[in-house]
Amino acid sequence: MQKAKTLDPRNPNKSTGIFNGRSSGILNWNDIAYPHWHKMYKRLLGNYWQADEINMSNDIKQFASLSTSEQDAYLKIIGLLATLDAPQTRTALLLSLYATDSSVQSIMAVIAQQEAVHNESYSYVLSSIVSLDQQNKAFEFGRTDKILLKRNQNIAKYYNDFVENPTTENILKTLTYTTLLEGLFFYSGFAYFYNLARYNKMVGTSTMISYINRDELEHGRFISELFRATLSENPELNNEEMIEWVYEQYKESVELEIEWSQYVLADIEGINLEEMHGYIKYRANKMLRLIGLNEIYPEYVDNPMKWIRAYADNIDGTKTDFFEQKSRQYVKVNAIDNGFDDL
Ligand code: ZN
Ligand code: ZN
Repeated sequence: MQKAKTLDPRNPNKSTGIFNGRSSGILNWNDIAYPHWHKMYKRLLGNYWQADEINMSNDIKQFASLSTSEQDAYLKIIGLLATLDAPQTRTALLLSLYATDSSVQSIMAVIAQQEAVHNESYSYVLSSIVSLDQQNKAFEFGRTDKILLKRNQNIAKYYNDFVENPTTENILKTLTYTTLLEGLFFYSGFAYFYNLARYNKMVGTSTMISYINRDELEHGRFISELFRATLSENPELNNEEMIEWVYEQYKESVELEIEWSQYVLADIEGINLEEMHGYIKYRANKMLRLIGLNEIYPEYVDNPMKWIRAYADNIDGTKTDFFEQKSRQYVKVNAIDNGFDDL
């Protein structure tokens, strides 16, 4: 597959295909192939935040009072989250290089920016609470920890395959792993921080995690749409083999996620591993539904980890912080309704 041309006036403004299509490179949000993606773009922008809005002063005092296993898990999980957000920044950009739809390029630019913010936020929280030596160690986990490497092996493989061989099939595979990343891989880590918050520990960090969580939910939603649209634009790839492949990746990812959660959350007060495994399967079901496939864990259609609903399920569409932090500064109200939102 060729990279999309930057400007090509011979082509129409409205794209003829998400990948391998034709488009001039001029973006008119009034005239895009998937009109409701304008709303998605607006929703993504509405989530704007950055790390140093978050007050870490209580977390700085509290970190020393966490148990050794809590401290250890805290650092390992930050290490894990960093291994997801850094490659996602680049993958979002790479997808936009091949997209022949300017609205997709713009949306991916916003997603890439948000992944960059997530990544910096891990440095921000760590630099608040531990020595430089420990910070560096946390970021080394992603390269050195055996279980973490095993857990990330598939995503690394398929993301790199796309770099080396950018075909529509490899894009669909990368999008599948992106739905797993945005909708599954982060969530045992998120749960760890929400669990601390419900015991009133490290609330600053959890607030930051809730902002990241809200972004990832939106990303997951858009990437699922992109996956479905790309599949239906390329019916030759919409076959049993591909669908079977997707189910296999979901099953394997769930197994690896369970193994990881057993390793990193074993001694954490308040976390019931059985419940956590159910939560992982529930997340997998949710993402499969979003990409238009069937649930594979019928016993986990509902969220079995009840306490987490107060943190993770109430994020959508709300601008109120559910932790006690100051009100958000960046959320602007449209003073004049010019009808643009209704396009
Ligand atoms: Zn992210
Ligand atoms: Zn994301």
